[in-house]
Amino acid sequence: MSGFFLFNKQIMLSLYFHIPFCNHKCFYCDFYSLGKFNKNQEDAFTESLLIEIDLSAKKYYKNQKIETIFFGGGTPSVLSVYNFNKIADKIKQSFDLSNLIEWTMEANPESITKERLENYLQNGVNRLSIGAQSFNNDELIFLERIHNSDEIKEKYYLSRESGFENISLDLIFSLPKQSRENWLNSLNSVFELDPEHISAYSLIFEEKTKLYNQFQKGLILPNDPDFEHDLYIETIELMEKNGLYQYEISNYSKIGKECKHNLNYWYGTDYLSFGPSAHSFIENKRFWNYRSLKKYNELLSQKIIPEENFEIINTEMSLTEAIYLQLRSKGIFLEEFKAKFDIDLLNLVNMKLEYLFHKHLNVENNILRFTPEGYSISDEITLKIMEVIE
Ligand code: SF4
Repeated sequence: MSGFFLFNKQIMLSLYFHIPFCNHKCFYCDFYSLGKFNKNQEDAFTESLLIEIDLSAKKYYKNQKIETIFFGGGTPSVLSVYNFNKIADKIKQSFDLSNLIEWTMEANPESITKERLENYLQNGVNRLSIGAQSFNNDELIFLERIHNSDEIKEKYYLSRESGFENISLDLIFSLPKQSRENWLNSLNSVFELDPEHISAYSLIFEEKTKLYNQFQKGLILPNDPDFEHDLYIETIELMEKNGLYQYEISNYSKIGKECKHNLNYWYGTDYLSFGPSAHSFIENKRFWNYRSLKKYNELLSQKIIPEENFEIINTEMSLTEAIYLQLRSKGIFLEEFKAKFDIDLLNLVNMKLEYLFHKHLNVENNILRFTPEGYSISDEITLKIMEVIE
C-alpha cells in the first residue's frame, strides 16, 4: 500500500454486485441468498439489476474512474452467460472503466464451466475467487457444500487453462472436531495449487443459521479457543513459508496480489453497490438495500431505488472505523492518519500501551500494525487503542 493509493481514494470508486442465488444454501451461511432458484427468478433479478444500475448511476455517480468491480453473493457464477453479458454491457455503458485494475468474480466449483470462464475473460474479469472451503470430503459434507475435493482441483486447473492469472481460494478452518492434521492437509492441498491469494476464515456461528440453531441445542460445539488460536498462528506461519504474506486478519497473498477491492473498503474508498442486501458508501453516507429479492424486484419495477436505510458517518465514527478496519488489514498509515484526524496515534500508544509492542503491535515504515499474536486478539487490542484516544 502506498500513500498514492490513499491519496487517490477521493476520485476513485469501486462497484459491488450482490447476486442472490446459490445452488444450495449452506447451513453455516448468513449471506442473503436463495438456495433454490429458477430461470424466471434469475431473469427477473437481472432486469431489476439493470434498472437499479440506471437509477443509482444517475443519483450517485459523478464520473469517477472505476478502480475495482466485485461480483459476490450468493454465487455469482450461477448466472447464465446471457444474463451476465447483459449486466456487464450495462456496467460498461454506465461507468468509466478506463482505469479498472481489478474485476473479481466469486465462483463455486460446481458452477464453473469453460464457457463461463471464457466469457468472463472476454468481458474484462481478471480475478477469480473460488469457494473451496476444505479439501477434506467429510468436512465438505459437514459444511453442506455440493462439491468435492477433486472438483475443486479440476475447476482450478480449468480456470488456469482458460487464462486466469489471478486466482484466490477460500478456506474455512476450526470446524467442530477438525483435527490439526486435517486442517494442515487442506492447507497443503491449496499450496500445491499455488494460487495468488488465499482467504482462510475460522467458522463463525452466525445467528439465524442452521449451524447456530444446532449449537443452541448443544448438538454442535465450537472448538476450544486455545486450539483455534494455535491453528491460526500456525496458519500464518505456513502461509508465509509458502510465499503468501498476511495483509488482513483472514487474507494472504503473493506480493502485489492483494484483493484491491477489499483494500478499498478497508481504507475508505467510496463504493457503490447493487442487488438485495448490498451496502454502499458514498461521501460519508452508508446506505443499504432491502434484504429481500421480492421487495427488491417490486420497488425497481416502479423505478424506485430499493434503499432500506442509511446512516451518515461523522468524524467520530469515521475515526473508529479507520482504526478498526485498518488495524485488521495492513495497518494504520500514521502520517495519513494524523493528517486526517489530527491525532498523533503513535505517541499515544507509546505513552499508554507501550507493553503491547513486539508481541502484539509493531511499527515499520511509519505503519502501526498487528503481529500475528495481535491479529489473533484483534478486537481486544483495538478496544485498548480506542480507549487511549477517548
Ligand atoms: S455457496 Fe456461499 S453464499 Fe451460497 S449459501 Fe453457501 S456459503 Fe452462502
